[in-house]
Amino acid sequence: MPYPLIDIGANLTHDNFDGDRTEILARAEAAGIVKMIVTGSSDQGNIDAAELAEPHPGRLYSTAGVHPHHASDYTDASDELIRSLVLRKSVVAVGECGLDYFRNFSPREAQLEAFRSQLEIAADTGMPVFLHQRDAHDDFVEQLEPLLPRISRAVAHCFTGAGESLREYLEMGLWIGITGWICDERRGAHLHDVVSEIPDDRLLLETDAPYLLPRTLTPKPKSRRNEPAYLAEVLRVVAKARDQSEQHVAEITTENAVKFFALHD
Ligand SMILES: [Zn+2]
Repeated sequence: MPYPLIDIGANLTHDNFDGDRTEILARAEAAGIVKMIVTGSSDQGNIDAAELAEPHPGRLYSTAGVHPHHASDYTDASDELIRSLVLRKSVVAVGECGLDYFRNFSPREAQLEAFRSQLEIAADTGMPVFLHQRDAHDDFVEQLEPLLPRISRAVAHCFTGAGESLREYLEMGLWIGITGWICDERRGAHLHDVVSEIPDDRLLLETDAPYLLPRTLTPKPKSRRNEPAYLAEVLRVVAKARDQSEQHVAEITTENAVKFFALHD
């Protein structure tokens, strides 16, 4: 029997899944993925994510937010949409939101403004927040820190940084989401050392599907597309790096996800 796991970040509304979404959900279930949080990252994506999750109570949930890549499109209507979506039972967090200076698809000013607005929504509504940060550590911390006392819980999703930023995040009270990035021997090797510094009660697992197919999967899937069923591989590598049993890591991360998102059945 596979260990019951919760994928806290799956982009299941992505058009890569349009042809076989039902099979993807069935494979996830067979692989022990008992609950999934569908990431919302744009106005339309937030509506799609909520509509995908709603018919699967207790199993699928969604977030509502605007990704820094789409920050230029963040309007008053985006703000209102997020505020109305988080009132729904199946919508369990604000985000994904944050800063991405690696790609800079949206100008930094727009990113900063959209990020601030969404942190305000999290603060006003008491919802937890799902955070994205890439190559923007200093600005990210500067924006986030003053609002944290008013925010219930915050997770640094797809953490890929060094020990120093991990320690800073932990001190700020952030929870840490680990993806299959840790399975990448080229750019994720450093995570094997730092992942054991994450306390048991702050660790979360995610696939970020369809992105970040774990490179350690055997046999290698024919497609490069990642899916929630592969979360067990992230569990395996994280457990090994932390020198803990898979069962233990499965138990704590599942419990953490229920707590973080206040998941109901
Ligand atoms: Zn992200």
